[in-house]
Amino acid sequence: MQSMRQSCGVLLGALAAALMTVIPLQAQEKVNVVASFSIAGDFVRNVGDDRINVTTLVGPNSDVHVYTPAPGDAKKIADAKLVISNGLGLEGWMERLVQSSGSKAAMLVASNGIAPRQPGAHADPHAWQSVANAKIYAANIRDGLSAADPAGAQLYRANADVYLAKLDALDREVRAAIANIPEARRKVISTHDAFGYFADAYGIAFIAPQGVSTESEVSARDIAAIITQIRTAKIPAVFLENVTDPRLMRRIAAETGAKIGGTLYSDSLTDRNGDAPTYIDMVRHNIKALTSALAE
Ligand code: ZN
Repeated sequence: MQSMRQSCGVLLGALAAALMTVIPLQAQEKVNVVASFSIAGDFVRNVGDDRINVTTLVGPNSDVHVYTPAPGDAKKIADAKLVISNGLGLEGWMERLVQSSGSKAAMLVASNGIAPRQPGAHADPHAWQSVANAKIYAANIRDGLSAADPAGAQLYRANADVYLAKLDALDREVRAAIANIPEARRKVISTHDAFGYFADAYGIAFIAPQGVSTESEVSARDIAAIITQIRTAKIPAVFLENVTDPRLMRRIAAETGAKIGGTLYSDSLTDRNGDAPTYIDMVRHNIKALTSALAE
C-alpha cells in the first residue's frame, strides 16, 4: 500500500514537473496577427512588440489598391488570431480572401472612428496620412489585440501609451515644419489623391491627376487640366510616389518647368534599408521632402 502511495506520489510529481515545463512554453507562443498592408503592419508591431508575430500581406513599396492575393495568403489568414485591415474601401480584395480562408480570426478595421473624407463617389481610404488619425488606428489596434489576447492587455496598453506619445510628438513636428513654408507655396502635385487627410490636417494643398485609387485611368484631359493648374497657381513642385509609375510626373514636370520634389511615401513603407521603413520615418521623410521643395 505504502509503495503504491509512493509510486503515486512519484507519478504526480512527474506530472507536475511535466506541466511546469509545458505552461511556460505555451505562454511564450506568439499571437499570429495578419495586417493587410505595411503601414498597418508597423502600427501593430509597435503595440504588440515581442508578444505577437506579424505577417503583412502587401509588402514594402507595393500597391495595396491593386493587390492580387498570393497563393499563401489564405493560409496566413487561417492561422491568424487577428486580421487587421484599413477599411474605407482600400482592400477591395480582402473580403473574398478572408471567406476563402475559412478563418475564425477576429477582424479589425483599424480606421474605425475616424471622420472619413468623401471627395467623390468613394470614401478616401488614406486616413493614416493625418497623424491624429494614426493615433486612432493605434488605439483600435491596442483594443483589438487586447480582445484577441486578454493576457497581453497590460503590455499592449503600455506599448500603445509609448507609441501614442511618439505620434503626438510627430504631429507637432509636422506642424512646426509646415509653419516654415511660406503660405503661398503650400501646394504640390502628387500622382494619386493620397494626401487629402494630410492636406486637411496640415494645410498643404495637394492636386493629383489620379483619384483616391491607383486603379483609375488618367486621361489626356486630366493631364492638360493639371498642367494649366500648375501654371496658373504657380505650383512649385511635383512629387513622385513609391507605389506609382514615375513617368507621368516626369512628363508634367518637363512640360511645366515645375521641379520634381522627390518621392512621397503614400500607401506603403519601404524595406528596412529604404527611406521609410516605419510610419514615423515615412511622415518625417515626407515633411522633409515637402519643406525642402517648397521653402524658399
Ligand atoms: Zn492610395
